[in-house]
Amino acid sequence: MTHIVVIGAGQAGASLVAKLRSEGFDGDITLIGGEPVPPYQRPPLSKAYLLGEMDKARLYLRPLDWYTENNISLRTGTRAVSVDTSAKVVTLEADEALPYDQLAFTTGSHPRTLHSAIGGDLAGVYCVRDLADADAMAPEFTASRRVLIIGGGYIGLEAAAVAAKKGLHVTLVEMADRILQRVACPETSAYFRDLHRAHGVDIREGVGLDRLVGQDRVTGAVLSDGTELALDFAIVGVGITPATILAESAGVTVDNGIVTDAHGRTSDPHIWAAGDCATLDWHGAQIRLESVGNAIDQAECVARNMLGANQPYQPKPWFWSDQYDCKLQIAGLNMGYTDVVIRKDGAAQSHWYYNGDRLLAVDAMNDPRNYMIGKRLIEAGKSPAPTIIKDPATDMKALLKL
Ligand SMILES: Cc1cc2nc3c(=O)[nH]c(=O)nc-3n(C[C@H](O)[C@H](O)[C@H](O)COP(=O)(O)OP(=O)(O)OC[C@H]3O[C@@H](n4cnc5c(N)ncnc54)[C@H](O)[C@@H]3O)c2cc1C
Repeated sequence: MTHIVVIGAGQAGASLVAKLRSEGFDGDITLIGGEPVPPYQRPPLSKAYLLGEMDKARLYLRPLDWYTENNISLRTGTRAVSVDTSAKVVTLEADEALPYDQLAFTTGSHPRTLHSAIGGDLAGVYCVRDLADADAMAPEFTASRRVLIIGGGYIGLEAAAVAAKKGLHVTLVEMADRILQRVACPETSAYFRDLHRAHGVDIREGVGLDRLVGQDRVTGAVLSDGTELALDFAIVGVGITPATILAESAGVTVDNGIVTDAHGRTSDPHIWAAGDCATLDWHGAQIRLESVGNAIDQAECVARNMLGANQPYQPKPWFWSDQYDCKLQIAGLNMGYTDVVIRKDGAAQSHWYYNGDRLLAVDAMNDPRNYMIGKRLIEAGKSPAPTIIKDPATDMKALLKL
């Protein structure tokens, strides 16, 4: 019987095995997960779950029974430690050997951490990647305590929003000139800066962390401008690196992610990759997309190709973030944008990214309608002129018929 082994029981791994079964694969499937829990959604870890507004059971992507009913051997709390590509064998902790016919890496990513020399290993310093991280930090979120958030990307900002909502004193430092600099235009940064400041968050841009201080537990921080802060705890949200060590040590080509071809196959013909750990082709460039949408779509495409479909992966990037009562929805990728057009429809606002006159992406703040219109335009390769988008009189829905 053919055996497909999937290493990494997260969003991509779970989507991949589900797709294999729904496409009719009736061979053996083993899904290996290093965490002691079944596959779950990560986005709520910095949103509703951290706020205490969502139960753990609702995080799980599927009930445990589903894996048994679908004859999927789910091995949680077990890490794969090596892959012998010539013998086609994965070795698990405790030396268990699992032969495979085809293998997929869906190993996700690791949060960047702070070096111990600057206090990164003190108690009370957290990152937000796994369920265990969220559970460990949740008791710290009590009113009037002081938290420093290091990094003004989406995860840092979401954690800041949760902390502010719970009545903590929140300082957020971002060493770049502005929050969200890596991922959004200045207009979107300004929108979220204003939103956070209106909720009392002390946002400091162009200021990094010099060091965290404390004996065993963090009690303060020294910032790059010399400011000293007293703290109760700190959250580090300074980005992620793809989890590629296992693939690399197996001799699979890695270059800022496990390199895949248009079909999701790696440099080894029997090995595939999907999700945060994998690269993909984006208009001739090898990039990685760190999002749920990509983890699902790329994994499903890989599943079909493992079964011989031979379909290229065509990413349709989308992303969201929840902060206070604002839902941000993003369609497309703004890479290489030259201009941004702002559209306001009452309280709803959208920022449209163009390269010349080509529409690339849309950031929509509490504006699901324009998000959906933007997404459909981008996916259809349509680019209404920026002046049309800007014009408050434009019937946006009518643009879809052009
Ligand atoms: C706090 C947070 C908030 C987020 N919010 C959003 C959002 O709002 N919108 C959005 O689109 N995306 C969001 N993301 C990103 C999104 O969750 C990820 O892009 C997505 O989970 C990637 O799925 P994945 O399967 O590639 O990786 P993961 O979900 O990280 O799963 C990888 C799994 O592989 C396991 N693994 C790794 N190595 C091994 C090994 N050797 N053996 C066994 N198991 C192994 C890991 O333990 C992990 O469980 C967020 C992420 C985080 C952390």
